[in-house]
Amino acid sequence: MNNNCNECGKDTSFGTGLFVNRVVADNGYLCPICMQLDCDRCSFPIEVDDDIRINGETIIHYNCATAEEKEILQLKDRLDSLAHTCSILQESLEVIADINSEEDPVRIAQETLEALAVKEI
Ligand SMILES: [Zn+2]
Ligand SMILES: [Zn+2]
Repeated sequence: MNNNCNECGKDTSFGTGLFVNRVVADNGYLCPICMQLDCDRCSFPIEVDDDIRINGETIIHYNCATAEEKEILQLKDRLDSLAHTCSILQESLEVIADINSEEDPVRIAQETLEALAVKEI
């Protein structure tokens, strides 16, 4: 097993700057650059932590999401952060995550947040 990246052949050994973030792959390593996924919208690579999954499979930059997708993501984040303390949210989240659902995810998310707000008071 050598220290070169399987994809681009760059040396990823200690001191190269690629050592810390390299990942073990078949018979070698992948450097952090080759590990980056390409955006399904603009085709440019996505930095770690800037990736967003739409419907569990499309991977894009946050900035490549449509306004509506960003709205859904923000609502979903709020629901996700509440869900671990509140089991009634699970059902709503499942509906929102289900791409085949005929329900409007934005409406479901808003209704759920409204229902929770009322409950908290
Ligand atoms: Zn590489
Ligand atoms: Zn993009």
